[in-house]
Formats: sequence, C-alpha cells, structure tokens
Amino acid sequence: MKIVDSVSRMSTFTRLLKKEAKTIGFVPTMGYLHEGHLSLVRAAKKHDDTAVMSIFVNPIQFGPKEDFDKYPRDFKRDEELARSAGVDVLFYPSVKDMYPHGYATYVAVEALSSALCGASRPGHFKGVATVVAKLFGIVRPDIAYFGQKDAQQAIIIKKMAEDLHMGVEIKMMPTIREPDGLAISSRNIYLTDDERSDALVLSRSLERAGHLIKHGEKNPKKVLTAINDMIKEKPSVKIDYVSIAGTKDLKEVDTIGSEVLIAIAAYVGRTRLIDNIIIKAALSAIPK
Ligand code: AMP
Repeated sequence: MKIVDSVSRMSTFTRLLKKEAKTIGFVPTMGYLHEGHLSLVRAAKKHDDTAVMSIFVNPIQFGPKEDFDKYPRDFKRDEELARSAGVDVLFYPSVKDMYPHGYATYVAVEALSSALCGASRPGHFKGVATVVAKLFGIVRPDIAYFGQKDAQQAIIIKKMAEDLHMGVEIKMMPTIREPDGLAISSRNIYLTDDERSDALVLSRSLERAGHLIKHGEKNPKKVLTAINDMIKEKPSVKIDYVSIAGTKDLKEVDTIGSEVLIAIAAYVGRTRLIDNIIIKAALSAIPK
C-alpha cells in the first residue's frame, strides 16, 4: 500500500495511473476506520483496478460547536486496517495542503443541502460537497463509493457530479450494522453503555416503520408517529428529526409511494447519530 501525504504527489500518482489506463475506485473517509468504510474498499477492489482511500477530517464541514477537535483520529490503526482491506493508495493530506492561505472556492448543491441534516447543520453539506469536489479533482476516480448510512450525502454528491459533469460514477453501498442492528459509526465510541443500548431504538424504529409500510401503510404521519413513540421511550435519546422523503428530491412525502427514504437524526446523550432505510416498491401490501 502506497501512502501519499501531499496533494501534489497524489496528483502526480493519479496521472501515472491514468497513463497506465488503470481504473480508479475511490473511497473518501474521515478515518477512524470501521467495517462500514472497509465494505466500500471491498466494493472498489471488486470493480476497479486501483482502490484509493482518502483520510481527511474536513474542518469546513463541522459547525463551530461541533466535534472537529475531538473527532477520533488514529492514523497508525487506520493504516493497518486499510492495508489489510487491500487499499492500494492511502491519501492522507493535511488541512494546510487542502485549504492553503487564501482558499476561496466552495460548492453549493442547492435545495438538497438544506433538507434533513442540512436544516440543523447549516453549511455542513457545502463543506462536504467542496471537499469531495476537490478530492475528485486530485484522485480523478472512475467510480466513487459512498455509504447509505449517510444517504443524504451520497444523494448530494451524485447530484454534484452530474451537474458539474465530473465524469465519475457515484455508487451508494448498503449500511453496515453491528449484529444487534446499530449502524456502525466512528462516533459510536462516544456512547456510554446505557446510551449504546438506548441507541438501538434508531434501527429498531426504522425496522418497525419498514414493516408497517411493507404491510400496506401509506400514510407517512402514522409511520412517523410509530417511530416517534418508540424513540420517546428512551430517556437518553432526543430526536433532531424524523423524516419520510423522496429519494431524489429529499422532500417530505404526503403519501408513501414507490421509493422513500426514512431518515432519523437524534442525540443520544451528547452524541448526534443518524440512521435511515430506503423502502422500495411498497406499492402492494405483503400478506402476513
Ligand atoms: P466518514 O468517515 O464517516 O465520513 O464516512 C466515510 C464513508 O463511509 C461515507 O461514504 C459513509 O457513508 C461511509 N460509511 C460510514 N459508516 C458506514 C456504515 N455503517 N456502513 C456503510 N458505509 C458507511
């Protein structure tokens, strides 16, 4: 595995790969790697000649009161995990290299970025779209892999890549969960044992919602009530939002049609967690 810690060296290496006509699969991350990240690497290994992973905790996507400073970082551990998953190139730039003095260019994907998490994290998706656009410019991937865990992010990046003719295919891969259903996240290490146990209500309420819809429920209000009622039973969990939205425009739906995103953001203690499911083809009720 090659470790590249500067933008200019990565750009040079990208040119070499292009010259050799190697396809590039790209997995952007903020590190503190886990199975969710590694599943994306495995997808890249399967489809592309070269798997490039970036590790960069992007300051401009964190709000002033968010956890940029305390976001978990452990490069040695990440290096080992990336190597064992088969990453070919690990790109690990510094903040100074990515945002030199006088940096001035930002990417805003309108409408989609103010829905769901965008409402409580203003500027977050502008930071995400900007860093991903920059990383795409440096790595020039054929395919970039994102997790459904952050479905809104994947949908926004897909829109950006299309709108700006970036020539990269965006693949959204399934959410990897702990055996009990909790979506794996680098932020799960912040949870106490009690919070970890209460946090399970996120995946369980989504499962319940999926069950209701698959059995014919088309009224989003009823499904939202079922989710809210389950979550309210857990003392350490405070809902930020629960939403049932279209997967293309992220707008809340009046009636549950062929494909919806059911997304939750909640504080478990002081930790903000997100989870979601996409329910497809709920058009006909499934008999019990
Ligand atoms: P992050 O390091 O949190 O910015 O995540 C980097 C990439 O890994 C993003 O595309 C995430 O959606 C994806 N990811 C994070 N957690 C999971 C998970 N549990 N399952 C699948 N993908 C994930």
